[in-house]
Amino acid sequence: MKTLVTGGAGFIGSHLCDLLLHDHEVICVDNLLTGSSSNIEHIDSDDFTYIRHDVTEPLYIDQDIDFIFHLASPASPIDYLELPIQTLKVGALGTHNMLGLAKKKNARFLLASTSEVYGDPLVNPQPETYWGNVNPIGPRGVYDEAKRYAEAITMAYHRYHGMDTKIARIFNTYGPRMRVSDGRVVPAFISQALSGRPLTVFGDGSQTRSFCYVSDLIDGLVKLAFSGYNEPVNIGNPDEISILGFAEKVLAITGSNSPIVYKPLPVDDPKVRRPDISLAGRVLGWEPKIDLETGLKETIGWFGKFAQTGISDGTRA
Ligand code: NAD
Ligand code: UDP
Ligand code: UDP
Repeated sequence: MKTLVTGGAGFIGSHLCDLLLHDHEVICVDNLLTGSSSNIEHIDSDDFTYIRHDVTEPLYIDQDIDFIFHLASPASPIDYLELPIQTLKVGALGTHNMLGLAKKKNARFLLASTSEVYGDPLVNPQPETYWGNVNPIGPRGVYDEAKRYAEAITMAYHRYHGMDTKIARIFNTYGPRMRVSDGRVVPAFISQALSGRPLTVFGDGSQTRSFCYVSDLIDGLVKLAFSGYNEPVNIGNPDEISILGFAEKVLAITGSNSPIVYKPLPVDDPKVRRPDISLAGRVLGWEPKIDLETGLKETIGWFGKFAQTGISDGTRA
């Protein structure tokens, strides 16, 4: 099979390329806006091709393509707050172009959507049937609405053109290859703890998240991709923890003496987030296997080895 992965030089995309290369030819398309060639430089395979391209521009490819995984998009809040127009364009124009390419190639298509389509949710955990609580004009709206549009156009190509499309609603995912300075809570707290700097808890730390280790997420994405299910599916780990509790866990595992400092809560920061994964269990037979402690130890080990140079203080480095 020949598979095209947009955003393939990013955190999740590069792990997906690694897995797919076991039995696929992979074309990775990325403009390195928030990703890095260092995420794919270890790949030494004749079955791998990298194309540097901005998917908001049309992409014409001579070869046959069987599957498109569309992951290209800034994903960290500080990235999409700094790149609002690019974020809207890649969700809208980028998704349209990749659907057009998939239609022309008669390829199947998977959209990497997000739990942010639920906004600051009023129900917890969030099932796929929940329509969300999104502020369209707030600072996070550039990401949330781009992904909501991306879901809408994906369903339109499925219904109108009869294409075989999938939508994965990805919840907070972490692991090796996250950018130290991307501002997300996992790399921020780990790099702060490892360097003895204060952990920057936003708000009072009572807001919750549910963290999924990257290998579990990739397993879910691939199961969804090759399933017969065409409506959105939550992929995430339902083990919910407060951000303050998460800071304490990172301190305990690293053995760090870093203090905790409190900074203002970003605008529209969701107060709770936890996936209802009963649909993924029913239609994919999928559930996560890696608990937070195990996944964090792996991630901390990687950060300790490879990523100690760029230190995050909770803002863009
Ligand atoms: P990332 O920033 O590491 O990866 C995104 C990749 O997309 C980067 O390599 C970037 O250079 C590329 N990209 C951005 N705009 C592009 C464009 N116009 N053309 C080509 N390439 C472009 O982020 P990630 O965490 O790996 O996220 C991957 C996908 O998963 C994103 O679509 C994101 O919205 C989604 N997602 C991630 C999470 C998470 O917790 N990591 C949660 C929900 C959804
Ligand atoms: N497209 C692309 N590569 C292709 C085919 C299409 O990038 O091989 C883009 C092109 O920009 C087009 C979009 O995908 O506008 C949607 O294509 P489609 O044929 O679905 O619809 P159109 O909007 O062109 O009628
Ligand atoms: N957060 C924090 N300190 C940081 C970075 C993030 O307290 O240095 C909080 C943030 O306010 C949010 C949670 O951690 O409540 C998760 O943030 P992240 O940016 O990782 O992703 P989000 O889930 O908001 O998309």
